[in-house]
Amino acid sequence: MALVVQKFGGTSVADPEKIKAAAAKAIARHAAGDQVVVVVSAMGHQTDILVDLAKAITDRPSAREMDMLLSTGEQVSVALFAMAIHAAGHKAVSLTGAQIGIRTDSTHTKARIRSISTDHVKGLLDSGAIVIAAGFQGIDQNGNITTLGRGGSDTTAVALAAVLDADLCEIYTDVDGIYTTDPRLLPEARRLESIAYDEMLELASLGAGVMHSRSIEFAKKFGVKVVVRSSFKDLPGTMILAADQAVCRPVSGVALAKDEARITLEGAPDQPGSSHALFSSLAESGIAVDMIVQNVGQGGRAGISFTVPEDDLDNALDRTRAVAASIGAEGVSHDGGVAKVSVVGVGMEAAEGVAGRMFTALSAEKINVHMITTSEIKISALVDRADGPAAVRAVHKAFGLEHGDGGPPCGAAGALPKSSPLDVVRRLEGMEDLAIEDCLLDSSQALVTFADLPDTPGVAADVFQEVGRAGLVVDMIVQSNPRDGHAEISFTVPAASRDKAIEVATRIAAARGATVADVPHVSKLSITGVGIRSHAGVADRLFMPLAQAGVNIDLVSTSEVRLNVVVAAEHGEKSLAVLRKAFGLA
Ligand code: ADP
Ligand code: ASP
Ligand code: MG
Repeated sequence: MALVVQKFGGTSVADPEKIKAAAAKAIARHAAGDQVVVVVSAMGHQTDILVDLAKAITDRPSAREMDMLLSTGEQVSVALFAMAIHAAGHKAVSLTGAQIGIRTDSTHTKARIRSISTDHVKGLLDSGAIVIAAGFQGIDQNGNITTLGRGGSDTTAVALAAVLDADLCEIYTDVDGIYTTDPRLLPEARRLESIAYDEMLELASLGAGVMHSRSIEFAKKFGVKVVVRSSFKDLPGTMILAADQAVCRPVSGVALAKDEARITLEGAPDQPGSSHALFSSLAESGIAVDMIVQNVGQGGRAGISFTVPEDDLDNALDRTRAVAASIGAEGVSHDGGVAKVSVVGVGMEAAEGVAGRMFTALSAEKINVHMITTSEIKISALVDRADGPAAVRAVHKAFGLEHGDGGPPCGAAGALPKSSPLDVVRRLEGMEDLAIEDCLLDSSQALVTFADLPDTPGVAADVFQEVGRAGLVVDMIVQSNPRDGHAEISFTVPAASRDKAIEVATRIAAARGATVADVPHVSKLSITGVGIRSHAGVADRLFMPLAQAGVNIDLVSTSEVRLNVVVAAEHGEKSLAVLRKAFGLA
């Protein structure tokens, strides 16, 4: 006898007929001898309707009352779902988040799960009932109803599967699996048979709306087997698995975060404390930042750029302006009309030329790239919002994702990340707390920086095509937000290739009126874990202790599973010790 959690999204329970059809799936599982927990979303667009209702009353509804209101959507659908099962002659009991005992923190409208009690649900399952659980909601320590954030029913489902030690978590939705990109945006997108947790985590966090990214944090941390499949067609769907079980490719998918905003703190004093002042203030108000890029300082001043979801722009701007005034920066600029295009693949690290291919595809479409950041398994480019869909199309095509899965399987050479950090998870106070696994030091790289590159479409493409042709394997790439029509691009290569990199870079720079600087030996420090980007303030936990230790950071890159910083080689060991302490690693 297996225990299965089945989750049905809004479109899958949009009307009585669909509820009956979904109920039939749960009944069939149960009849086959399995225990079944069903997690249900609000019917159709009910949550949007409730949001609009609140807006019709006031521009600024209290977050607590918002949760009271939004949680009703799921309460309706669980009751109807249970009735549908009863009508078919089977046992079912519907439960709200509070009745189950889904305890969250008190961050209304985006609460995080702290713990889930299993006694009540297990008792009902053992009595032969199908349990119908309301998705997206919980209760805080003071008895207030909370919700987990839009799309949060996925997170309820995977979290329940984790605590119940379910054999499988089935996500039933309106697509028949995870595609190489959103099939609504690009009809030629292809369904993937399997995808690694880390890839799905990155894709979801970088804009692929098919799964709530926090649900994949649970899946990875607790090793939950998840399958995404169609509610309406009987097809196999896509398995989400540990990296050593999924097919490893250089590129598995493309994601578009279309509502992003860029903020730059201009002319900040080029000293270690500036980043800390900025990012600690942003973290305090719970804003999760991405694409953090710092320009090489000139005249003792540097620019610090980062992106936030557009919804957080006003709040983030207020914070950044206050910091600018307090540290004596020159000013703050922003762009509220940008989008982030990302390619993701666990085999990227071991593959050559991925960056060059991506930037060439964008350049061929005359799409200007404002900023670039990379991690081991993803490359993100910031473009004008209007260019977003064309950028996805171009990149998807460049990697042949419509025919294959984005390059040959990695095989043994593939860079497979570690699987679920269960021993770390056991020590967490709350189930959804940030899980930090390790801090690694790599002192084998050199850093090359171009300054004063003309800010025209195709510059990054030219640079990385030539770098690729020269056989150089690049690791981190960062392009800063252009200033006065000039961009700055930095990248790291193995120190052994430094001479060659300088030769190539000097040639590229000479042809474009740019200059080249380099650091022959740098240290890259990587904090690894789960949920690193989506938990606000993780980057700042690193800026503060490094600043106090007098260490300047040359490059930063963020991802859900890794936070990398590059510092001068002589600071490598010291930084490692400082960061291990800061992140509570022995
Ligand atoms: P549900 O209501 O079942 O939770 P969602 O609307 O949240 O469903 O998610 C399903 C939608 O996600 C699909 O209709 C699709 O348009 C979108 N989507 C975005 N990116 C992807 C992707 N990479 N693969 C599949 N679907 C995607
Ligand atoms: N009903 C909620 C929403 O629409 C939660 C969910 O569907 O996952 O966001
Ligand atoms: Mg959803």
